[in-house]
Amino acid sequence: MNLVLLGPPGAGKGTQAHYLERDFGLKQLSTGDMLRAAIASGSEIGKQVKATMDAGKLVPDAVIIAMLQERIAQPDCKGGFILDGFPRSLTQAEALDKMLAARGLSLDAVIEIRVDDQFLVERITGRFTCGKCGAGYHDRFKPTRQAGVCDACGGKDFVRRADDNAETVRARLQVYHSQTAPLLPYYRAKGRLRTVDGAGEMDMVYRQISGVVKALPGG
Ligand code: ADP
Ligand code: ADP
Ligand code: ZN
Repeated sequence: MNLVLLGPPGAGKGTQAHYLERDFGLKQLSTGDMLRAAIASGSEIGKQVKATMDAGKLVPDAVIIAMLQERIAQPDCKGGFILDGFPRSLTQAEALDKMLAARGLSLDAVIEIRVDDQFLVERITGRFTCGKCGAGYHDRFKPTRQAGVCDACGGKDFVRRADDNAETVRARLQVYHSQTAPLLPYYRAKGRLRTVDGAGEMDMVYRQISGVVKALPGG
């Protein structure tokens, strides 16, 4: 099964993708994580995209499409995957259709996690992750059980993303509405779009999403 999680920055795509990985054996593919890894490794691509990401704009379609194409060819994607943060433009959506068709694959569903903009700035500015194991947290909505200690691995170093500040979030929301939201009618017309309410608590959102996935053929 191959899914897309679609939604604005902070909607909960990464959070929900982890639950789906755990329960359905699907592989999460986050293009944002891939790009941040490219920056951290000091690679040529990382150097090219850093300023664009810091400004909250989309990196060029050609760069991201090539990156994803290579990723889905890896053996760990054979059991199905969850695209988190891709596609983000119509050009990317069309490229995805082609690359899946070339491998005899298709999308089973595109799940839109809908959250009003007014809630997203707080979601994003409170986000942090464990520097050791990558577990995700939130200052208010998902604090660590013990202050300063990762629940999952006991790690004590946490990281905040350079682009998770109030100013850049506003730019990212604008980009979402102008460049990514056109994917909603695109997938609706293909009969693939399912929308869930992302405003409630994490497990309430997941209940809706897992319900959608279980109702799919093979789910
Ligand atoms: P995205 O991948 O869509 O940008 P994340 O999954 O990283 O979003 O979530 C953004 C932040 O909001 C994280 O700190 C996460 O812990 C928190 N969060 C995720 N879902 C919810 C929710 N339903 N209610 C409150 N906070 C949430
Ligand atoms: P979030 O889920 O919080 O919006 P991501 O980690 O998905 O953040 O993306 C962070 C940044 O990485 C984006 O603002 C953009 O600059 C870049 N990026 C990630 N995925 C794509 C994509 N599919 N196309 C273009 N740029 C992307
Ligand atoms: Zn940890």
